[in-house]
Amino acid sequence: MTIYNYAAGPAMLPAAVIDQIQRELPNLNDSGMSILEVSHRGQDFAAIIAEAEANLRALMAIPDDYAVLFMQGGGTGQFAAAPLNLALDHRRIALLDSGIWANRAGAEAQRLGIDCDTLASTKAARYRDLPGLPAPLTADRYDYLHLCVNNTVEGTAFHTLPDANGTPIVSDMSSNILAEPYNVRDFAAIFAGAQKNLGPAGVTVVIVRRDLLKNAPGVPSAMDYTLTAAKHSLYNTPPVFAIYALNLVLRWVREQGGVAAMHERNLAKSARVYDFLDHSHLFSSPVAPAARSLTNLPFTTGDADRDDDVIAQATAAGLLNLRGHRSVGGLRASLYNAMPQAGADALVDFLYHYEQNA
Ligand SMILES: *Cc1c(COP(=O)(O)O)cnc(C)c1O
Repeated sequence: MTIYNYAAGPAMLPAAVIDQIQRELPNLNDSGMSILEVSHRGQDFAAIIAEAEANLRALMAIPDDYAVLFMQGGGTGQFAAAPLNLALDHRRIALLDSGIWANRAGAEAQRLGIDCDTLASTKAARYRDLPGLPAPLTADRYDYLHLCVNNTVEGTAFHTLPDANGTPIVSDMSSNILAEPYNVRDFAAIFAGAQKNLGPAGVTVVIVRRDLLKNAPGVPSAMDYTLTAAKHSLYNTPPVFAIYALNLVLRWVREQGGVAAMHERNLAKSARVYDFLDHSHLFSSPVAPAARSLTNLPFTTGDADRDDDVIAQATAAGLLNLRGHRSVGGLRASLYNAMPQAGADALVDFLYHYEQNA
């Protein structure tokens, strides 16, 4: 039975990458050591982390005046690190409340004593659509606008960015980095936990404009962008294995044709599923069409017991991890870069037959 894993994160990795990890695991570059054992200061790892940065720079066309950092602590760590490092002048950030992860970012900033103004929210509409800015942002009021570009739980994505009127945008790209093209220059900083679309859990990518790297007071060393940039992500022990695996994923994306090729595939995969949902009499997508994510697709029958039955039968058929986030229920299919078209097709075939027999 072919297994497809639709988990939102940690999520599936390209089969070729898993194969390579397995082959290389006992003996990295004929060193007689495993990647799990090598020093982060040794030459093998030096080459790996340099290549990972170069691959990410090539894939996202990251300009030289942006630093690439490999950190730990996940998206949640960045909910603290971003305000600690970047909310220095006004000690105030703005937020568009597009869902759970945007909210978490605002709450974490406030926990650290940084003000957060929620300018708009689609909570009352159960986050079926994206919030827009109600009025042009006042210049020089906020250190930045926090934007969760892809809302993993609710299944919405900003395919075009709101006009922030000169206020810097800090973006949580945890669940659609490299899934569709974004222009790095549109952001002051981008962060992404790796475990959705980049690799295994444990490494967090940060891309930040170098002129924003100041000596921020009171930032723990492990969260300090300026220190991390100065030390090329080697101030302390980085997540060696996770960066190694991330680099293999980045190589794989480049071999496949880069972000443009991923985007094309993700459009095709998600269109297959959305087309089915929009024509189904049993299943539907709750998300406004223009706001739909390419990577996270929630859907439901509208009946919790029926949804449970679909999940149970899908699991028995090898279609795994289709349960929606515990906060919203229903089902959710995550179709990240590593998910082949065949995985989207298998899901639609299964749902179609389920509906025929219902
Ligand atoms: C998963 C996720 C997070 C949280 O990531 P952790 O690495 O678990 O802290 C934050 N933001 C978004 C958009 C996510 O999808």
